[in-house]
Amino acid sequence: MSTYTLSEIRQGSQGDIAYYDVYPEKHKLVIDIHHHYRPSRNFVETLLKDMDEAGVHKVCLFSSPPQSYSDTEDNDWKRIFKDYEDKIIGFGSITPGRPNNSFELVDLYYSRGFRGLKFIRPTRRYDHDDFLVYYERAEKYGMPVLFHTGVVARRSVTESEDVSSAYMRPVYLDRIARLYPKLKIIAAHMGDPWFGEAFNTSQKNPLLWLDISGKGIWLKAKAIREHLWIRLRPEKLVFGLDEPSSQYKRLIYTWDTLFYEMGLDQKTRDMIFGETAARILG
Ligand SMILES: [Zn+2]
Repeated sequence: MSTYTLSEIRQGSQGDIAYYDVYPEKHKLVIDIHHHYRPSRNFVETLLKDMDEAGVHKVCLFSSPPQSYSDTEDNDWKRIFKDYEDKIIGFGSITPGRPNNSFELVDLYYSRGFRGLKFIRPTRRYDHDDFLVYYERAEKYGMPVLFHTGVVARRSVTESEDVSSAYMRPVYLDRIARLYPKLKIIAAHMGDPWFGEAFNTSQKNPLLWLDISGKGIWLKAKAIREHLWIRLRPEKLVFGLDEPSSQYKRLIYTWDTLFYEMGLDQKTRDMIFGETAARILG
């Protein structure tokens, strides 16, 4: 029925057109800000192929922490830095306070070509005095830092391990953000299940974003819908996968549809799926 062009609608000159009269278009830039290296045959080739098929342009790929970094993985990183730096951005993983995870690791990762850092499974809360030296160095190098926030998976249900999800609460990023005002921080999984805490902390700190990666997307979407425009603006959300690359299509379609149903327009969804991440990564 409508005789308006798409650009007229986008410019807002036709206020009587409902958002759902404009169907989602392909995003011009898609960046996955949360992806784990998994030691397996053809990992890199499979990742690049799945990205291509799903229209994903760039990925932030997390190394294993030093205690599980293998020779196979090392060879893959060498190839990535040599041949695929335009598509794969390396993030070096650090488990703060654990053996072989001293602050010099930040310098080592930076000199090898890693452009960001991923933090997980600390021995104390993320904002403990002993760990500040990691963040100070990251700020100096201009490396964005992504923290696992929320309850973390167990690696074994039979072996004992000293890990507490409570050390990874999103509010512990607050002190870090205030101490290092140039540091770009991403709280992974929106702090699942501490969504309100993650949104509120992000709202107070201009360079603290939230990735929507991980499971439980029904609850994540519900939390976004509930807090949107009160404690959360869509500028603070970034797309991440945290699943094998075979899941790109499913999760991009699902999230894009959920955001569309919340009334977020194309421009806003373009930000979430790539443009905001491009600014974080420079
Ligand atoms: Zn993850």
